Amino acid sequence: MHEMGIVKGILDAAEETARRSSATRINEVHVRIGDLTEIVDEALHFAFEALSPGTLAEGATLVVERVAPRSKCAACDATFSHGRFDAVCPECGGFVCELLEGRELAIDCIDIDLPGDETPEEPA
Ligand SMILES: [Zn+2]
Repeated sequence: MHEMGIVKGILDAAEETARRSSATRINEVHVRIGDLTEIVDEALHFAFEALSPGTLAEGATLVVERVAPRSKCAACDATFSHGRFDAVCPECGGFVCELLEGRELAIDCIDIDLPGDETPEEPA
């Protein structure tokens, strides 16, 4: 499953960041996933449940934010949201567009516990 490798990468990066901050555990991992990726939320969550035990993110929540595709028209510079296969400019009907958003696959932020930190909600 494609998502296993993706979640492995997400976990590795999140753990590395957490360790650099001397975190004791990861509470939440927020990721941004573009709708133009082939990634399925359910599969991501499944992979996260399968791979997080034994890492700092054991028991953590994976929060997935979907990003709708957005493009800029090459003819008139209008920016617009669209679906997977219908990137046509609503202003001029042009279909030569530059994709601005929609292929994201990135960690947005992670919520961590620091040693002796009683209020993890507040920034250290
Ligand atoms: Zn246009």
